[in-house]
Amino acid sequence: MKVKVFCDFDGTITLKDSGDLFFQTFSRFEPFHTDLLEGRINVRQYYDSVVSELPFPINENQLQTFIDSLEIDPYIVKFFQFCKENEIAVTIVSDGFGFYISKILEKYSIVVPVISNKILILETGYKAVFPYSTEGCKCFSASCKRNAILSNISSDDLVVYIGDGRSDYCPVQFADVVFAKGMLDVYCAQNHISYFPFKSFFDIQRLLALYLKKNVKKTKHSNYIQRMAIFLRE
Ligand SMILES: [Mg+2]
Ligand SMILES: [Zn+2]
Repeated sequence: MKVKVFCDFDGTITLKDSGDLFFQTFSRFEPFHTDLLEGRINVRQYYDSVVSELPFPINENQLQTFIDSLEIDPYIVKFFQFCKENEIAVTIVSDGFGFYISKILEKYSIVVPVISNKILILETGYKAVFPYSTEGCKCFSASCKRNAILSNISSDDLVVYIGDGRSDYCPVQFADVVFAKGMLDVYCAQNHISYFPFKSFFDIQRLLALYLKKNVKKTKHSNYIQRMAIFLRE
C-alpha cells in the first residue's frame, strides 16, 4: 500500500484564494465573479472571460510583486519535506491555473506534480484551457479533480485528500482520509463524509505521522467499490 496525497492549492496551500486575487489584481473581475456565484455562468465561462480580459503581456515585475504578497501555510514547506522523507507522493490538484501556482511553488522550492487548468499564450493575448475537464461530472469546477485522482492511484493506495472549497466537494467522495477547512469542513459535516478538520499543515502532518505509525493497511471498502464503479462507467 502506498499513501498518496492529493492537495488543493488556492485557500489550502495559500491562505487566501490566490486565483480570485490574481484576477482581481490583473483582470476585470466583475460582473463575471458575481455572475458565477449567482449561477448565470459556469466556472469555465467565468475563466474564459477573466482570462481573456487579462492585459497582454502581464508585467513581470507586477506579477512578482503579486506572488510575493501571497501568504502560504506556515507549515507547508515542512509538510512537503515530511512527505518526501516518508515516500508519500503528493500531487496538487487545482481548479486554478498553473500560471501562478508554479511561480508560488518555485519561490518556496517545492517540486511536486500539479494538475490544473492552463493559460495559453497566443500572439495577442491569453486563452484559458481545461486539459483535465470531463463531461462525466457536473461538479462546480472547470476541471473536475475526480479523474485526476482516479487515474493516478491503484486500488490498494491509501488516498488522502486536503482541501478547503467548492472544487473539493467532488473529489473527497473518492478519498480514504479527508482533511478539510473552510467551506469543505461544513460540506463534509453536512453530508456525513468523515474528515479531520485542520487549521494548518502542522495538524495534517501530526495525524499522518500517527497513521503511518499505526500502519493502516486497507482502504475503506466502500470507497474502493465507488472508485471501480467510476472506472467501469467511463
Ligand atoms: Mg481551494
Ligand atoms: Zn467532479
